[in-house]
Amino acid sequence: MNVVYLSSEVAPFAKTGGLADMAGAIPKNLQKLGVEIVVLTPLYRSIKESAYPLVKTDIQFRVRIGDQVKTGYVYKGCLPNSKVAIYFLDHEPYYGRDGLYNYPGTARDFEDNSERFIFFAQGALEVVKKLEIYPDIVHCNDWQTGLVPVYLKTKYAGRSFFENTKSVMTIHNLAYQGWFWHWDMKLTGLDWGLFNSKQLEFYGKLNFLKGGIVFSDLITTVSKTYAKEIQTPEYGAGLDGVLRERARDLHGIMNGIDYTLWNPETDKFIIANYGLKKLQGKQLCKRALQRKYKLPEKDCPLIGMITRLTSQKGLDLVVDKFRDFMNTDIQFVLLGTGDPWYHELFNSYAKTYPKKVAVQFTFDECSAHEIEAGADIFLMPSRYEPCGLNQLYSLKYGTIPIVRSTGGLADTITDVRSEPVSNGKANGFSFKEYNSDLLFATIIRAMDLFKNKTMWTNVMKNGMSQDWSLERSAKEYRALYERVVKNVSPVSRYGSMQGKPLKLIS
Ligand code: ADP
Repeated sequence: MNVVYLSSEVAPFAKTGGLADMAGAIPKNLQKLGVEIVVLTPLYRSIKESAYPLVKTDIQFRVRIGDQVKTGYVYKGCLPNSKVAIYFLDHEPYYGRDGLYNYPGTARDFEDNSERFIFFAQGALEVVKKLEIYPDIVHCNDWQTGLVPVYLKTKYAGRSFFENTKSVMTIHNLAYQGWFWHWDMKLTGLDWGLFNSKQLEFYGKLNFLKGGIVFSDLITTVSKTYAKEIQTPEYGAGLDGVLRERARDLHGIMNGIDYTLWNPETDKFIIANYGLKKLQGKQLCKRALQRKYKLPEKDCPLIGMITRLTSQKGLDLVVDKFRDFMNTDIQFVLLGTGDPWYHELFNSYAKTYPKKVAVQFTFDECSAHEIEAGADIFLMPSRYEPCGLNQLYSLKYGTIPIVRSTGGLADTITDVRSEPVSNGKANGFSFKEYNSDLLFATIIRAMDLFKNKTMWTNVMKNGMSQDWSLERSAKEYRALYERVVKNVSPVSRYGSMQGKPLKLIS
C-alpha cells in the first residue's frame, strides 16, 4: 500500500506541538508494518539552515495561486533512525522566514497563511506526480492540509496518478480550522460553487478544515473520547454538525509515543537515566531540576507543566487558585510559550514566589525532557484535549499526571480513586468538571498521597509499566487505510457532485 503523509510540521525538523511528534513518528511505525510511505512538509527557514543532512533534488514544480504561477523546489531527507523518505517543499517567499504560522513571540498569524498552505496542498500533489507515486492514500493532518481532499475530488479527480487515491483527514485540534476571508477562494483556483454552507463556507469565511472534513474519504481524530466530544456543540467549534453528518466515517485513534525519544532509561537530555527497576536516577533528576531553576533542594512535591500558553490548556484554573497553591508546600516549574498575557502573569508569580515558582518562556526540547524526568507531578487541567502527549511522556517518566478528564486525557488517565492501585491500572489523578475548586482539591489529594511513599511509588510504577507506544496506533491506521481503499463509493455526502469531478476556474 502506498501512502503519502502530509503535515505542516514534522519533528524533529519543525515543531509547535503534538502534531509534529506524531508526524515524525507514526510513518516510521507504518513502514515497519509494511506500508510504503513518504512524508511531505514545507521547508521552513530553520530546517534549511539546520545541520540536518538534506539533499536538493532536481524536482521543480509549479502551483497557480490566483493569477500567478509560483515555482517550488524539493529537498529530500530521512526521518531520523529510519528509512522513511521526507520531502521538503521549498518556496522561499512562503517558508523562508522565522516562525511556522505566526510572527515569533506573538500570537499574530502571518497574513499570507492561506496562500502558503494553498501552495503546500497543491504543491504536495504536484510533487507526488513528479515522484511517480500512485498513492492509495493521501493522509492529511489539520487545516494546513485541509484543501488536499478538496483538490483530490476536483482538480485532480480521475488524473492518472490519483485515479485510485483515497484521502484520510486527521484532526489533531478542531479549534484551529484555517479561516480566511472569502476572496481567498480566488487564490485556491476552486470553483466558487464550492463556497456554500455544506462545503467550504463557514459564517462567510473560507474554512480549510471544513473542506478536509467534507471531502475526505475518512476522518480520524486522536482519541476515542475526542471523536465523540467534537460531535457536540460544546466541543465542536462550530463544526459539530458537519462532523455528525460524517459520524459513520469518523474514528478515534489514540496517539502513541515514540519510546526511542521519550524513555528515561535512554534519554540523553537528563542527568541520570532510570527505569522501573532502577528508580534512584529520578531523585537525581529532581535535584538537578531544582538546582537549574534555583529552587530549594527539598522533598516537597514538584509540579511540572509544559504547554502552549493558551486558554485551551486550563491555565485560568491554575491562575484562579495560584495563591492557594502557594500556601501549600509545593514547587512549580512552567515551560511554555504563547499568549503574552500569561507570560507576564506567570513571570510576576515567579518574582513574588522565587522559592516556589520557576518559569521558562522558550520552546526548548532539552528542558522539556528535564522537567518530565525531574517533576513528581505533571499538571494538565485542559479545557479540552484532543489527545495530549505530555501525560503519556509523564507516565513513562514516573511523573504522576493530574488531568482534567476530557478527550485523550480521559482515555489514558485512571484516577487512583476509581481503581485499586494494586491492579496496575490507576496511574494518576483526574477531575471532571472544569472548575478551579476541583483542580485545587485534586492537587491536595495528590499531595496527601505523596506523603505515602510506598503508594506513590506504586502509582508511578503503574504508569511506567503501561504501554502507550505507537505500534498500536500504527496498526489501527493501517486497518483503516485498508478499509477505505476497499470502499469504492464516495463516502461523503457533500464531498462530490454526484460523483462528477467539479469544474475549476483556471
Ligand atoms: P499540543 O499539541 O496541544 O500543544 P500535546 O501535549 O499533544 O499538546 O503536545 C505538545 C508537545 O509540545 C509535547 O511534545 C510537549 O513536550 C511540547 N512542548 C510544548 N511546549 C513546549 C515548550 N515550551 N518547549 C518544549 N516542548 C514543548
